[in-house]
Amino acid sequence: MDFEAFFATKLNVLRDEGRYRVFAELERQAGAFPAARRHANGEIRDVTVWCSNDYLGMGQHPKVIAAMHEALDRYGAGAGGTRNISGTNHYHVLLEQELADLHGKEAALLFTSGYVSNWTSLSTLGAQIPDVVILSDAGNHASMIEGIRHSKAERRIWKHNDVEDLDRQLAEVGPDRPKIVAFESVYSMDGDIAPIADIVEVAEKHGAMTYLDEVHAVGMYGPRGGGIAEREGLMNRITLIEGTLGKAFGVVGGYITGSAALIDFIRSYGSGFIFTTALPPHIAAGALASIRHLKTSNVERAAHRDRVAKVRQRLDKLGIPVMPNPSHIVPVMVGDAAKCKWISDLLLDEYGVYVQPINYPTVPKKTERLRITPTPLHTDADIDALVHALSSLWSRCALARQVA
Ligand code: PLP
Repeated sequence: MDFEAFFATKLNVLRDEGRYRVFAELERQAGAFPAARRHANGEIRDVTVWCSNDYLGMGQHPKVIAAMHEALDRYGAGAGGTRNISGTNHYHVLLEQELADLHGKEAALLFTSGYVSNWTSLSTLGAQIPDVVILSDAGNHASMIEGIRHSKAERRIWKHNDVEDLDRQLAEVGPDRPKIVAFESVYSMDGDIAPIADIVEVAEKHGAMTYLDEVHAVGMYGPRGGGIAEREGLMNRITLIEGTLGKAFGVVGGYITGSAALIDFIRSYGSGFIFTTALPPHIAAGALASIRHLKTSNVERAAHRDRVAKVRQRLDKLGIPVMPNPSHIVPVMVGDAAKCKWISDLLLDEYGVYVQPINYPTVPKKTERLRITPTPLHTDADIDALVHALSSLWSRCALARQVA
C-alpha cells in the first residue's frame, strides 16, 4: 500500500469540506490574558483570545502560579512513575481529598485529562459490571462515547436531554439488568444544560446508576464551584461526578468522584489510570490552589456572568445570530463550514480577534459556528472590538441577521 498517498487523500477530503484543522500558534501572556501573541508567516501579532476554555482566567491567577512554582522547585518536573510505582505525590492525595469535598463525595481519583477520566471510568464500568446496559445521551462527548464503545457493553442512545425517552428506554431494558445513565450537565457546543433533577428521578425509579460529566461546569456554577449539580442541590443523588482541571480550573487533568468503593474499584481495575505516569506534582499543586480559591471566591463567577450577558446583549442588538442557552457559552451560528473558517481567518488576520471555527464532527454539518467564550478578564474595549469586527464581517459576507 502507498501509505503516504492514503494519508494525503484523507487529508484532502477534510480540506475539500473546509474542515481541515489549522492551529493558531499562540503565546498566552500570563498576567495579560485574554491577550496573546500569535505566530504566523514569520511574524508575531497581538490577538485577543475569545475561544479559550480557561473560562475564568485561572491559568494566570497569582495563587495558581505561585503554588506551581513552589511545587516545581520542591519536587522537580515529573511525578517519576505511575501512581502505583513511586508516582503518588503528597499533592495528588491532597487534591483528591479537595475534589471529593468539592462534590460532597467520599473519594476522588485523578487522571491525566478529562478525556482519560471518562474513557477509563466508562470503559471499566461497562466491561466489568456483568450484563450492564449503558444509556448514553445523544449529545455526549467523544471521550464518553469512546469509553462506552471500548467497554463492549450494550449501549443505548437516548434523545438529547429527553427524559421521557430515557424513561422509556430504561423500562425496555427491564429491572433485572444493571443500568448506567451517562450524561453531561453543560453541553459545550450548544451551551444547553441537562434537566438533572428529572434525569436523576427517572434513573432512581429504574434503579440505575448515574454518571455525570461536569467538565464545562466545575469552577463555574454552584456556590463553591461544584457545578450544576451543586447549584441544584443534587450532588448526593448522582453516583459518579466527573470533571476536568483543564478548563475553569485553568491547569490540566481530569477526575472522578463518588463512593469510596466505586473510586477504589476504578483505581484498581481502570487501565487508563493504572498504566500511565501520574500528573506532575506542580500540576496537582496548581489545580489544588485553583479549586481552593474558587471554593470561597465568587468574584470570578460574578464577573464572568456579567461579561457573558454583555456579549450576548451586544450581539443580539446587531442581529448576529446567537444560539440562545442558559450557560456561559455563546455560539454564533454560521451554518457553513467554509464560511465559518473564512470568517474566523478574517477575524484573526484583520481584527486580531481569535475565535476558532467549530465544524463537523464536533457539531453537525450545517450548524458550523463560532463558539465564543467570554471571560471575566475581557474588558468593555475587548467586547467593543469583537462586536465591531463581527458586525463588519456579517455585512461583508452577506450573512443573514436575526431580528431581535
Ligand atoms: N468531557 C467533555 C464534555 C468535554 O467537552 C471535554 C473536552 O472538551 C472532556 C470531557 C475532556 O476533558 P479534557 O479537556 O480535560 O481532556
